[in-house]
Amino acid sequence: MKSGEDTAPQEAPTAPIRIRLPDGQHILGLLHHRFQGDNGAWFYQVSVSLWSAVHDPAGTGDRAEPYDVSFAAPASHVQPVDGTDYTRIPIRRSRAALVRARAGHGPAPAAAAPSWPPAVRGDDTDRWYIQTHRAAAGTPPPASTMHHAECFVGSAKELLTTAQALQVLAQPGITVCKVCDAGRLQRG
Ligand SMILES: [Zn+2]
Repeated sequence: MKSGEDTAPQEAPTAPIRIRLPDGQHILGLLHHRFQGDNGAWFYQVSVSLWSAVHDPAGTGDRAEPYDVSFAAPASHVQPVDGTDYTRIPIRRSRAALVRARAGHGPAPAAAAPSWPPAVRGDDTDRWYIQTHRAAAGTPPPASTMHHAECFVGSAKELLTTAQALQVLAQPGITVCKVCDAGRLQRG
């Protein structure tokens, strides 16, 4: 086995993330990338370290070693860890989902590669949404976050036009999402 920094491939960026398992447990895992299914749903490819018994043929017997397991969690069942920067984590959009989302907004961009952050057309067809955050017990309510309509970080219950979004952003206590670069709203 080789060792040393100079021969190691550059490490892909990862970030800690909270995952809610099907049985309701919350665990802390590592986020490797995010990807979009063809139906538009977002998934988080994550890994957690479990245990495994490894047989040592040299004769010292079985021993326990960490064993990394990778799986895809639905975006609805992960929560960011406060203070973590997710902007370097790769994002893979689905071309089929993108084409479907834009259907009805002019010529179908079938030849266009999926782009991130989502394109802002600058006409009155852009849509945005607000994500509200639940406060931890005994703390003041955290700021709400503005997202592009196609951003997977939150989920859109109600879509706003650009004019409506700008009105909301003029109020205190609203932040802009860095993942979908919703700050473009204010930069014109
Ligand atoms: Zn966003």
